Parts: sequence; C-alpha cells; structure tokens
Amino acid sequence: MNQPVDWDSLTFSLTPTDTMYITTTLDGAPWTPGNLQPYGDIPMSPAAGVLNYGQGLFEGMKAYTTSKGRIVCFRPEENARRMQRGADRLKMPPVPESIFVDAVEQVVNANRHWVPPMGKGALYIRPLLMGSGPVLGVSPAPSYTFLIYVTPVGPYFKGGMSAIDLLISDHHHRAAPGGSGGVKAIGNYAPGMKPSKEAKAEGYAEVIYLDAETHSHIEEVGAANFFCVKNSVLYTPELTGTILPGITRDSIIEMAGSLGYDVVEGKVDVASALEADEAFCCGTAAVISPIGSITHEGTKVVYGDGKPGTITTQLYDALTGLQNETEEDNFGWIHPLPQD
Ligand SMILES: *Cc1c(COP(=O)(O)O)cnc(C)c1O
Repeated sequence: MNQPVDWDSLTFSLTPTDTMYITTTLDGAPWTPGNLQPYGDIPMSPAAGVLNYGQGLFEGMKAYTTSKGRIVCFRPEENARRMQRGADRLKMPPVPESIFVDAVEQVVNANRHWVPPMGKGALYIRPLLMGSGPVLGVSPAPSYTFLIYVTPVGPYFKGGMSAIDLLISDHHHRAAPGGSGGVKAIGNYAPGMKPSKEAKAEGYAEVIYLDAETHSHIEEVGAANFFCVKNSVLYTPELTGTILPGITRDSIIEMAGSLGYDVVEGKVDVASALEADEAFCCGTAAVISPIGSITHEGTKVVYGDGKPGTITTQLYDALTGLQNETEEDNFGWIHPLPQD
C-alpha cells in the first residue's frame, strides 16, 4: 500500500498493485457480482480448460487522471461488449455489461493511488475471462472465472510521438477466415511472438500481417489496427472477421468523420497502402503510432519525410485531448468513476 511510485520511470510493464476483482460461475448459471481481493496468484486445476485448450479471452483498457482532476475510463461498455462477443465465439458464458463495468469501476477505485498523474501514463486495466474448471475432452469447461487486475503504465511516447518502421510478414498470418481473429482470444497472440521477435531483431518495431487467403491486403500491425491516408481520405481494413474490432479504431473513424474527413472501410491492398501520404496504427496501448516506413519484399517505402503525418497528428491530439479532458467530449466516450 502507498508505495512511492516513480511515475517518470514507468514503462509498459507489470507493476503489481494492491487489489484485483474476481468472480466465478458454473456453466449455465448466471454471473453474480464478484469481490475485491488482494492481488496475487490464483489456484487452478491442472486440467483447467484455459490451460489445456486455451479457452480464454483478455481485454485491455485504461483509466486516466484528467485535467479536471478526476479519474476516467474510455468507453468501457465497448470492452464489455467485445468480451461478450468473444465469449460467444469460445463457448463461454458472457459476462453481463453491468457486472463488467461495475467491476472496472470497483477495481480502479480500489487502486486509485496507482493511477498516474495526468501526462505520466495511465492505469492499464486487464480483464480476463477463462474456462477455469477441469475438463479432459476438448469441450467447454464446467466453470468460469472473470477477473480484472490493473497496473500503472507509462506514456507510450516519452519524448513526443515518433514514427515506427514496420516489416510486412511474408511467412506468417495472424488470422484466417472463420477462425478466431475477430475476438481477443488468448490463443491468437502466442503465434505472433516469433514473427514479432524476428522483425525486432532486424530493427523493425513490429510486423504487418496480410490476409491469409490472398496475401495481398493489409490486415493488422501486430496487435494494433492499421490506417492509411491518401488525399485526406482515411482507409482502414474492413471488419471481415479476421480483423480485431479495435475500440481505438472505431473512435478514430468517428472522430475523423466529425473533423470532416472521409473514411473508407474496405480492402486495403499493399500497393495502394505503400502509395499513401500517411499511415498509422492504433490501439489502447499507444492510441496512435505514426508509421515512418514499411518494408515489403526487400523494399523500404518511407512515408513523407518519415515524421508523423499532419492528419495522423491531428487525430492523435484530438483523441488524447478528449481522454485527458482538455478537449470537450462530444461523443459521450468519457466514463468518470462514480466517486469522482
Ligand atoms: C486489442 C487489439 C487491437 C486494438 O484494440 P483497442 O480496443 O483499440 O485497444 C487491435 N488488434 C488486435 C489484434 C488486438 O488484440
């Protein structure tokens, strides 16, 4: 409790906090609200469905201290709904939105001294839903655990926004039609670690995945969504089931529309993306990361002068301004903690 936190040295890594939220249910029984308990290890059967067959989902969201001196979350209902869709896909009982959002509020409130001051980062919120009961055959677990832990993280860009270099993956795909790429299934992420590590060893920040069917359209950047901008029109891959429907992605589409830009959701073929004026990727962790270059089949294409693009920067400022409450929230996206 009340450890002195050096807010300036925070990165995106785990700092254990005091309190987590946990609730369990039997398959077929309704979810009931859970409890706060000290953060720590959880007992689990070696035969747990999540350990044996990957029956699990995660979510990721942030709580911020804002210019109004209060703590807010960003669109937590959207995370609740996305986890419900994932639960349906993985044959788990969906957690009701009211229990999910109440759990987020409780766990953030209980750890409020871990929420960094404005500008120093955020409290990262990690909900998990998993088949925690024992099962031997490949089938849904008999019982489920929903838990949330939190950890303070630093600002993604410490010295201001900087553009990243990306590599198109020639040998790996993230998701296939009919698979689980459209939900935050835990099993989707380990297969990306090898391509990602290999790209990083070659000096790239992350890999870009193309579609598994034709290997010609851009799908995602590691675990972030992709946008490019050409003649002031934004293009982003449409949600076909192989793209994770990012809440940042959705927010950028709405925000860009309100700023007067056209946004096209469709197939984004590699050739046209490489001819764009600007490109960026987006997700809860960085909000928006400008893309400085993309390397494809040995050729490196640099966007603009390799610096963050104008529209990319405008969208980043608009979205982070809204999250910090230095800009008006005309969308109803800010979710203050009830106590604030
Ligand atoms: C979580 C995630 C994103 C970003 O989603 P946000 O809701 O914006 O954080 C994008 N792609 C993948 C594969 C993800 O897992």
